[in-house]
Amino acid sequence: MVGSALVRRLASEGVELLTVPRRDVDLRDQTAVFSWFARTKPQVVFLAAAKVGGIVANNTLRAEFIYDNIAIATNVIHAAHVNSAEKLMFLGSSCIYPKLAPQPLREDAMLTGPLEPTNEPYAIAKIAGIKMVEAYRSQYGADFINVMPTNLYGPGDNYHPEYSHVVAALIRRFHEAKLADARQVVVWGTGTPRREFLYVDDMADACVHLMKTYSDSELVNIGTGEDITIADFARVVAAAVGYTGAVSFDTSRPDGTPRKLLDVSRLAKLGWRATTSLQDGIARAYQSFLKETGQGAE
Ligand code: GDP
Repeated sequence: MVGSALVRRLASEGVELLTVPRRDVDLRDQTAVFSWFARTKPQVVFLAAAKVGGIVANNTLRAEFIYDNIAIATNVIHAAHVNSAEKLMFLGSSCIYPKLAPQPLREDAMLTGPLEPTNEPYAIAKIAGIKMVEAYRSQYGADFINVMPTNLYGPGDNYHPEYSHVVAALIRRFHEAKLADARQVVVWGTGTPRREFLYVDDMADACVHLMKTYSDSELVNIGTGEDITIADFARVVAAAVGYTGAVSFDTSRPDGTPRKLLDVSRLAKLGWRATTSLQDGIARAYQSFLKETGQGAE
């Protein structure tokens, strides 16, 4: 999802884009990664690839989330260094911050307390990637930087009913309920957790901005600086989709961390802020869902 948004965003930058499909280079395969880097010698690397998923995927596929993400990080970061890439950006995640860290989450909260258990393997893999970037920066003087995106959504999302993130899950569920004339849609958890959502094209724009202007060892959070309860968010999705029935909450499903809002003051000082409102972003994401699932734009 982020990689495609970066490709869209970079189209206007007049750069030569080097992309490679997963069937040709599996980023978990060290030999394949090293030989691709040796052959293509990228000048600048955006490391957006990761195995990602929602709260259930993270909690269930715990081995895959830690193995795949550590492998991707070590292979790509080391290959970029060995092949003298001038710059690399590693995308971490807001879930690297402790479950009960003060909100909004500041960059210096990393490693100050225990993680949210449902996504600990993913978070540990991302922290390993962040620490690699810091280590390559300090030992080799590599111009590698770390950015921490909040929850992202938009074109190219994964709409799996069980394993997706909340945005894609609810777009799909409300859409299907509307088509079926259903009277009730079930939302997981209590509806009280708060989350921050960033449209993926805004994320790509922030990445390009920081790639051009930022060169430091400190992490940079990327978000909107605003959050919303899951219950209110469900109403936003229902309105965008045109579902008018009721919403109920399945409290047997996990809530995850109670709140996940990034402090974006460092990003603001660096000259960037999000421009897509949640309402506009969700409306656009719904149109992408219709297109991507072959249902045409409405
Ligand atoms: P998280 O931010 O890592 O917890 O990841 P998710 O995007 O999976 O979940 C965010 C919040 O949305 C959690 O509190 C979930 O319980 C809640 N949620 C409500 N309905 C759904 C759903 O259908 N799918 C997912 N993934 N989360 C849901």
